[in-house]
Amino acid sequence: MTNQNKQHKLIILDRDGVINYDSDEYVKSISEWMPLPKSIEAIAKLSKAGYTIFVATNQSGLARNFFTIDTLNAMHSKMNNLVEEAGGKIEAIKYCPHGPNDNCDCRKPLPGMFEQIAEDLGIDDLKGSYTVGDSARDLYAGYQLQSNPILVRTGKGLRTIAKGDMPSNTVIYDDLMAFAESLLK
Ligand SMILES: [Mg+2]
Ligand SMILES: [Zn+2]
Repeated sequence: MTNQNKQHKLIILDRDGVINYDSDEYVKSISEWMPLPKSIEAIAKLSKAGYTIFVATNQSGLARNFFTIDTLNAMHSKMNNLVEEAGGKIEAIKYCPHGPNDNCDCRKPLPGMFEQIAEDLGIDDLKGSYTVGDSARDLYAGYQLQSNPILVRTGKGLRTIAKGDMPSNTVIYDDLMAFAESLLK
């Protein structure tokens, strides 16, 4: 596969509010990690169609000591297992463990996790890829590497739409499955 093909078959997903139910009190345990309707099926569908799927997620709950790295890993095993049972695959999960005052370069809207993904794939930017999020910061992080911004109405999506602050080329869908169906049409 050429690098060009990789760029055009790449999707970077936010986690909370896109794949699983979000909570203003944070998703802190395995039982609180509950997939949104059809999100797992949507990932499997994209994956089976040849898309490489990454997840990039801010997890400041680690810095805030709301949960441990072991719990986060267990939540991610649950997510990976569900996707694999549905016949799909998540290539890798990038997470920012820092808080807002830690001055890291990976907490979205900063593009650190997206730069890591480009580096993993041996490409300079994420042109031709899609970044799916429910918050403006997800979209701006991907946008800096020229990834196409996709906003979903799940999670904080409606709040984000009400604020109106997002990249001008953002395309909006009801949920991850609506995006997947449109992309694969
Ligand atoms: Mg989110
Ligand atoms: Zn970070």
